[in-house]
Amino acid sequence: MNTIIKTKWIITCPKCWFKKEEKIPGTECMYFYECKKCKTRLKSLSWDCCVFCSYWDTKCIPKQLEGEK
Ligand SMILES: [Zn+2]
Repeated sequence: MNTIIKTKWIITCPKCWFKKEEKIPGTECMYFYECKKCKTRLKSLSWDCCVFCSYWDTKCIPKQLEGEK
């Protein structure tokens, strides 16, 4: 089975709507992300495991792997 994992995310800041492409360094969840433009510190929403799921257009790597099962 081929598993295609996205390792690049487009994050949209909820404050200034600045879009930034970020590359994920590993498979770990990230709980905080600082907007490169307005310096807002984004925190993962309570129902999501990490900021990727909350603000990115793609689910985090652990969730992507789960989805492939
Ligand atoms: Zn921002």
